[in-house]
Amino acid sequence: MAGPGTSAADTSAAPVVGIEIADGGTRLVATVGATVGARRWYTRLDAPPMPAEAVGHLNALIARALSESGQIASEPATADTSPPAPVAVGVALAGQVDPARGVVRSLRPADGWEGFGLAAALTERWGGPVVVRTTTQAAALAEARVGAGRGHTDVLYVALGRSIAAGLVLAGRVYNGARGRAGELAHWSVGPAGPDTANGPLCACGARGHLEPIASAQALVRRMIGRAADHPASSAALLAISGGRAEAASAAQVAQLAADGDPIARAVIDEALAALAPALANLIGALDPGVVVIGGPLASARDTFLGPLADRVRAQRPAEPDQPALVGADLEPAAALIGAAVGAAEARDEQGSRVE
Ligand SMILES: [Zn+2]
Repeated sequence: MAGPGTSAADTSAAPVVGIEIADGGTRLVATVGATVGARRWYTRLDAPPMPAEAVGHLNALIARALSESGQIASEPATADTSPPAPVAVGVALAGQVDPARGVVRSLRPADGWEGFGLAAALTERWGGPVVVRTTTQAAALAEARVGAGRGHTDVLYVALGRSIAAGLVLAGRVYNGARGRAGELAHWSVGPAGPDTANGPLCACGARGHLEPIASAQALVRRMIGRAADHPASSAALLAISGGRAEAASAAQVAQLAADGDPIARAVIDEALAALAPALANLIGALDPGVVVIGGPLASARDTFLGPLADRVRAQRPAEPDQPALVGADLEPAAALIGAAVGAAEARDEQGSRVE
């Protein structure tokens, strides 16, 4: 470790801030330190912000979090040019990024983010290091270090939410791929023999036969609502479990209905499992992870979804003697934020060891 009196570039003692940019940039969350259960600070915006506006809000949010957590006495007077000491910042962004360069590819539905150098903008204000990842990559890192994948150097994290994405921690490090897009499972082809019709339901991308419209958490709810409309008993069961608002039902509630024997819910869940299990089995064959962690709203649906999924994955590879455990994520819904902070802390420590 570099001692006191070293150059201004020394970041070995820099405070660590994690940031989550969600809902098209309208929800900004901060935490200080890479600790599970730490305090969070929020900024909510009425409309998706342009990058410059968002950076202004982020800088204010970071300053408030650092100040209120006692990391800095107050916001420095020369805030825009010279912070008193470097701050390590990790960002988890619900969009597409180029993590190697800290550049945003998209933050839908916000406009103007394509190619925006978010890491550079935050480094200018806070000194850095700044790490920018997708929420899935950040959540994978959090689960690998302090969550359900703790103790494993190779973790396959799969988030089933509005979409489907995998975060890969391989040989102890987040694996980005050549373009930062490793793990994009949404448009994984489940083929012409997939569930539903011969071609599968229409995907948001315009193709058929993709995983997302069958097996994302959102797809489970949407398909349940759609099919229950023609089946009064299932429709009544869905209303009962969702407190009278079918559109507010969760994927975990659909899985519960399936476990309770509702035939429509069982069909919806069965089709999702039939599509997911081969995809996961193929990934396990390719990557040999120590553990598979399922994130998103089904993370705690152990008996109704994760157990049946694990059975199906195992059945895909009957000759495999010791298959990795398939478990629910530990850190929902804060995994991405915690992972952002963990990423910042690790970048700081790596930079510190290089300075030394
Ligand atoms: Zn697709």
